[in-house]
Amino acid sequence: MIRRAIVGSVILAVFSLGPAIAGRQAVPGGGQDFAARARRIHAETIGIDSHIDTLQRVLNGKEDISRRTGKGHVDLPRLKEAGMRAPFFALYVPTYYKGAEAVRRTLQLRDAMQSVLDAHPDQIELAVSASDIERIGKTEKIAAVLTIESGHAIADDLAVLRTYHRLGIRSMTLTHFRNTNWADSSTDTPQHNGLSDFGREVVREMNRLGMIVDISHVSDKTFSDTLAVTTRPVIASHSSCRALTDVPRNMTDDMIRAVGKNGGVIGINFGGNFLSQKEVEASRRNFAARAAVDPGLTGRALDEFATKDYLDTYSAMRPNLSTLGDAVAHIDHVVKLVGVDHVGIGSDWDGISTVPAGLEDVSRMPHLTAALLERGYSEADVKKILSGNFLRVMRAVTGR
Ligand SMILES: [Zn+2]
Repeated sequence: MIRRAIVGSVILAVFSLGPAIAGRQAVPGGGQDFAARARRIHAETIGIDSHIDTLQRVLNGKEDISRRTGKGHVDLPRLKEAGMRAPFFALYVPTYYKGAEAVRRTLQLRDAMQSVLDAHPDQIELAVSASDIERIGKTEKIAAVLTIESGHAIADDLAVLRTYHRLGIRSMTLTHFRNTNWADSSTDTPQHNGLSDFGREVVREMNRLGMIVDISHVSDKTFSDTLAVTTRPVIASHSSCRALTDVPRNMTDDMIRAVGKNGGVIGINFGGNFLSQKEVEASRRNFAARAAVDPGLTGRALDEFATKDYLDTYSAMRPNLSTLGDAVAHIDHVVKLVGVDHVGIGSDWDGISTVPAGLEDVSRMPHLTAALLERGYSEADVKKILSGNFLRVMRAVTGR
C-alpha cells in the first residue's frame, strides 16, 4: 500500500511537469494500473544500467552484495527484484592513482569483481557480449558487464588496454574529473584541445578490440574529436542533459544529436546534481573539490586513503531537491531531440551521494517505468530505454 501511495504521488508529480510530449499522451481515463504494468515489464525485461559504482562498496567497504545490504543503492537481491539484471560494474580508479598505480588499482577492482563471481556462480555471471546478456538473462542470474573509469587506468599503454579487454572489460570512459595524458576532461582546464593523437589511437584500438567508447566525463572538444574518429556507436554511460541542468558533465543538445547520429545511447544519471538545476551550485563546488584531491601517496597508503575517501563521500544517502519527475524530464528531453532509440539508464548508483525523491535506490526502478507509461510511452519504448538500446550498442561493438 505504501508503494502504491508513492507511485500515485509520483504520477501526480509527473503530470504537473507540463504538457506531455506530442504523440505520447496517456489515454485519458484509461484506468490503467501503471504500477502493475511496470512490474510486469521489469519481470520480462533484462534491465541494463550502464554505470553503477557498487564495486567500490565491495572493495572499500568489504560488503557482501550477494545479500540484501540494507545500505547503498544496489545489491544482487535488489537488482533481481528490480529486473535490472545487466548492470555495468564500473572499475572506478580515482585520478590520484597515477601510472602503474592506476593499473594496480584496476586489477584490485577486477579481482574484487572476480571474488563476487567466484563466490556466487548461482547468482551472477560475467557477460562480455550482447548474446551473453541475453543468455544469462534467461536464467535468474545477474549478467555483469565490466567497464573502466577512467582512461588513465591504461597508463598510456595500448598493451594494458588490450589486457583489460582480455580480462573481460568491455567499455571505458576516456577521462574522469581530470585530464588524462591524452584527453581533456569536462571538469579540468583544457590541455590537449580535446583528444591527442595518442587519444585517437586509443579510440581506434577500442573500436578494433570491441570495447565501447564511453564519453561521459570528457570535455566537449574531446567528445567531438572522439565522434570524428570512432567507427562504432559510443555511449555516455552516466550523463544527463545540459539544457535542463547546466553542468559540464551533462550533454548539450548538439552532443545528444551527435550521439543520435552515431547510433549511440545516453544513460541518464540519477545524481541530484545531474538532474536538478537547484543542485547545480553545490555540484560545481563538489566537482571542483573532487578533482582537486591528490594525496601524493603510493601503495598501501594510497589504497587506505582511497578507501576512506570513498566511504566518507558516499556512505550517506542524502535526500536532495531532485525528484523522479526530473529523471523523466531528462529522458523526455533526449527523446524529443533524437527519438527513443538513444536513451537509457546510467544511474551512477553507489557513486552518487544524493538521489532523487522517489528513486532512492535500484528497487525503485519500476516506479520510473510506471511514470514513463503514465507519460504515454509505449511498453516497446520503455523496453528500449531499459534494455534494448544498450543491447544494440553492445552487439554493434562486441560483434555478437
Ligand atoms: Zn563518473
